[in-house]
Amino acid sequence: MEWETVIGLEIHVQLSTQTKIFSGASTAFGAEPNTQACAVDLALPGTLPVFNENAQRMAIMFGLAINAEIGKRAVFERKNYFYPDLPKGYQTTQLEKPVVGEGYVDITTDDGSRRVRIHHAHLEEDAGKSLHEDFHGMSGIDLNRAGTPLIEIVSEPDMRTSKEASEYARKVHAIVTTLGICDGNMAEGSMRCDCNVSIRPKGQEEYGTRTELKNINSFRFIERAIDTEVARQIDLIEDGGTVVQETRLYDPDRNETRSMRSKEDANDYRYFPCPDLLPVVVDDEYVEAIRATLPELPDARRERFISEYSLSEYDAGVLSAYRPQADYYEAVVAASKDAKLAANWVMGELAKNLNANDTDIKESPVNAEQLGGLLQRIKDNTISGNIAKKVFEHMWSEGGTADEIIEAKGLKQVTDTGAIEKVIDEVIANSTSQVEQYKAAEPDKRGKMIGFFMGQVMKATGGKANPGAVTGLLKKKLDALCD
Ligand code: ADP
Ligand code: MG
Repeated sequence: MEWETVIGLEIHVQLSTQTKIFSGASTAFGAEPNTQACAVDLALPGTLPVFNENAQRMAIMFGLAINAEIGKRAVFERKNYFYPDLPKGYQTTQLEKPVVGEGYVDITTDDGSRRVRIHHAHLEEDAGKSLHEDFHGMSGIDLNRAGTPLIEIVSEPDMRTSKEASEYARKVHAIVTTLGICDGNMAEGSMRCDCNVSIRPKGQEEYGTRTELKNINSFRFIERAIDTEVARQIDLIEDGGTVVQETRLYDPDRNETRSMRSKEDANDYRYFPCPDLLPVVVDDEYVEAIRATLPELPDARRERFISEYSLSEYDAGVLSAYRPQADYYEAVVAASKDAKLAANWVMGELAKNLNANDTDIKESPVNAEQLGGLLQRIKDNTISGNIAKKVFEHMWSEGGTADEIIEAKGLKQVTDTGAIEKVIDEVIANSTSQVEQYKAAEPDKRGKMIGFFMGQVMKATGGKANPGAVTGLLKKKLDALCD
């Protein structure tokens, strides 16, 4: 039987407001436990919530970015459940009247492009955290996170492969970071994905029963968790079993999913409108004023990178996905006046070093002006691409401009043909057997054999000879021997 996978994502995005959604406590990450929870967050009797307008503004920015209808009258509701990290006994969220209505984002994978419809996005508060380590058989509760504003973005079940799901999550990440409404730090939980997964026989219209994989916090894990769960569901059904609707946990260490609990229905939560909060009413003028503040969005920037800088779809997609990287790239283009070379270096040498050192581009030890200056020296033939990598290494570890490093380390390219010729003559004189092979080869095979001599010349000059000049001279001299 051929199976088709059906996936819908619920993505929680922490909004980067200074203070919480209903209190004045700080939202900064990493503070000592329970130092950033005020009376409201602790749910002390007699406290009342005050809605943070910045959270509303950020949610509307997201809605406009995904072409959604904006809820002009949003209503907060109480979702009632008990958990130690939820002192109020309910989560304040939105249900029937969310701030963001139906919208969509477009994604592209190797299988083509697809529009993923977004059912809605609602505002809600985050819960605290239960800490299970270091408490000797007990759990600790940290309420610093309680009351951090979230938008939960609920997609339609429109994705058909794990790759599409991760691409969709990447696109949402690109949008919220470009808007500046989320810091995008997935390792710190700033964006968390629940993946709803089901399978159905290919061609069948009706959806199968889904399971929900909770709180996945990396793009790679989204793909692995879904692939693992799909394999489990196929095995189960093909062995005569049935999938039960439940919440499952993905364990990356064992690459398996495990049942956590059976899925609750909405009516288990006894939702009702929160009597402490008024409906949030906005008018067109308010929404349009927010629209006027929107930055260039990732899709538009990708298109501009293609038309303005002649980048490939792929390069433009990668470079536009993360705003600090896109800004950095454009600054390198401005400094180097070479869009293609800038793309190669930002996605190549720079990205490689940032990854290896687990560093965000915002903290890159090499800034855009330094890199742009280095690329200029490649363009004007002061150094070759290979030497430039050495210069870049020095720049990365010790700082300095390209010119300072080239000067201090004596890396300037040798373009003086007289000097290069001298080295070539030595190499030819010391490579009699290779020269004989060259002479014996068919003329159309000789081009490939130049590589050996090229390598020798580069070795003798410490990589500093101009590669173009060396190739030309080598060919001339070797061919002269063949006559
Ligand atoms: P609930 O209200 O129980 O959370 P929803 O209908 O709101 O359920 O759907 C929650 C998420 O599950 C949405 O992202 C939706 O796209 C996805 N989803 C719903 N049905 C399926 C299915 N059969 N297979 C995969 N995903 C699904
Ligand atoms: Mg849900």
